[in-house]
Amino acid sequence: MQDIRKFISGFNNFRNTYFCCENSPFEALRQGQNPRTMVIACSDSRTDPSLIMQCGPGEIFVVRNVANIVPPYEADSGFHGVSSAIEYAVKALKVANIIVLGHSGCGGIDALMHGTAVNNTEFIDKWLSVMNPVRDEVLGHFGEVHKKSCTACEMAGILASVRNLMTFPWIARRVDAGELDLHGWYFDMETGELLGYHPDSKAFESLSFLGHESEDSGEEQAKMI
Ligand SMILES: [Zn+2]
Repeated sequence: MQDIRKFISGFNNFRNTYFCCENSPFEALRQGQNPRTMVIACSDSRTDPSLIMQCGPGEIFVVRNVANIVPPYEADSGFHGVSSAIEYAVKALKVANIIVLGHSGCGGIDALMHGTAVNNTEFIDKWLSVMNPVRDEVLGHFGEVHKKSCTACEMAGILASVRNLMTFPWIARRVDAGELDLHGWYFDMETGELLGYHPDSKAFESLSFLGHESEDSGEEQAKMI
């Protein structure tokens, strides 16, 4: 009950000091949203993309799930919650960027690596199995489950999700047309760094320098990540 009271009190504070204040972003946002970027992040309580990237309302269209997984395109009768959010972002909002945002210490990836989620789960293991090929490849390389191999799996999972985005025909078309950029990012909670996958070096590299507006080439380099 304590949490619930805190949340309601927080909302009241938000309404009084933000939502209703002069020049509130919601004055325009009441008419509709026009975010230019979609973020696919983990449900982990520490990786709220709006908080860690300091975004205001209306800036990012977000879907979060266990281990920030993008499943492959499947035109079947299943209930595709993640795919429907992606479809709305791409077809209706016409976002220019999709960021798959993974993170260190991911419980979902840890469960995937150990071959078991919480005992007797109905949905988690099935969901994580999307990344079984990634896990098998990482374990084939490292041989056993430890911190380093889990980190590698977290990063490889991001890249697999970016690859899965390209299995959606209407995403591949927009990417090929230069209308949509796909990004694989990693929030390292231990070092406090945000990393982005760079296809040239085939590695995750710090993005911090791109956040400085004086960087002339920042925009161009950001597109490659
Ligand atoms: Zn996670």
